[in-house]
Amino acid sequence: MDFEAFFATKLDDLHTEGRYRVFAELERHAGSFPRATRFVDGEMRDVTVWCSNDYLGMGQHPAVIAAMHEALDKCGAGAGGTRNISGTNHYHVLLERELADLHGKESALIFTSGYVSNWASLGTLGANIPGCVIVSDAGNHASMIEGIRHSKAEKRIFKHNDVQDLDRILSEYGPDRPKIVAFESVYSMDGDIAPMAEIVAVAEKHGAMTYLDEVHAVGLYGPRGGGIAEREGLMDRITLIEGTLGKAFGVVGGYITGSAALCDFIRSYASGFIFTTALPPSVAAGALASIRHLKTSQVERARHQERVRAVRGRLDAMGIPYMPNPSHIVPVMVGDPVKCKWISDLLLDNYGVYVQPINYPTVPRKTERLRITPSPLHTDADIDHLIGALSDLWSQCALARAVA
Ligand SMILES: *Cc1c(COP(=O)(O)O)cnc(C)c1O
Repeated sequence: MDFEAFFATKLDDLHTEGRYRVFAELERHAGSFPRATRFVDGEMRDVTVWCSNDYLGMGQHPAVIAAMHEALDKCGAGAGGTRNISGTNHYHVLLERELADLHGKESALIFTSGYVSNWASLGTLGANIPGCVIVSDAGNHASMIEGIRHSKAEKRIFKHNDVQDLDRILSEYGPDRPKIVAFESVYSMDGDIAPMAEIVAVAEKHGAMTYLDEVHAVGLYGPRGGGIAEREGLMDRITLIEGTLGKAFGVVGGYITGSAALCDFIRSYASGFIFTTALPPSVAAGALASIRHLKTSQVERARHQERVRAVRGRLDAMGIPYMPNPSHIVPVMVGDPVKCKWISDLLLDNYGVYVQPINYPTVPRKTERLRITPSPLHTDADIDHLIGALSDLWSQCALARAVA
């Protein structure tokens, strides 16, 4: 086989469909979030980032950076092994205790990323629980889908956020059949939020375990940043809460929290936890500092929500259409992959505004969008500049405006 020709053809397909991914090469500026330098064609240009998942700018918070420096100087660069073979650092243990406390659970377990935590945990649960059926929300993230697939357990999909459909599917199985309901709290592309109390009630009715991904909510919602389940007072009714250290907490890594037996089971059986080098101690220390800060400080969360409202208000005034939702994500709808990419390119090249275009397969075709994530550190002037640029391009691209 001509492998090179095969690869080239597959890449041509992506170009033809307008969904070939091009990465912006950035150098973020510590202490001046959301500014960055963009490297392009041998030049350097200043940009303002409007699509980061470092939602609160915690990746540059002085307390986080200081904790990472301290741990780096104290412990060196890497963990030095897997968790089992010399790699469990004191910071890992402190971090797991902090996470268990954050979600009101007995235990926690950290992974090298949120993706790995979902893939390894769902994979291990589904593969080991005899006759397990996993009932998964249609909007679930790729990491959950891959974990379920890897488990080889029976998989059923319920309509997105549809509690009746979930109830109907669970009713097909007798009480002796082990069931797991897998869902998210904040869905990252539409920014909608699961009807969590109703999902939990239906799961309880059928004796099902609940597996909740709070990746886009931890740090951001709830009085201590425990997520939507904390805000709604539901943490103790959810079997397993999964989260990331890489988004609002601003570092990297993933985790699950739950009962001591559940976490010990995953610790003992999950290949994706066991056979990989532990996170660097400095990373664990940074995440620990970030979580501790956000457990008590409300200013970042309050300012974040205020900035989101400000951006939406300005979009409304300009008639630029966005998908309304109860979260912090502002999906500005374009509905065409080529225009979406074109607008994004011009924002970056002509206005120094960086918003990555989101195309199929991340979102359904005809719902291509610019996913804007305002942060507490975007200024009024940043918002003015963003809205002015979008308004110019909306006219140039002859895109429809919403009627106010
Ligand atoms: C980003 C994401 C993950 C993966 O988390 P990482 O820490 O980035 O690997 C898991 N679930 C959802 C819903 C996500 O959006």
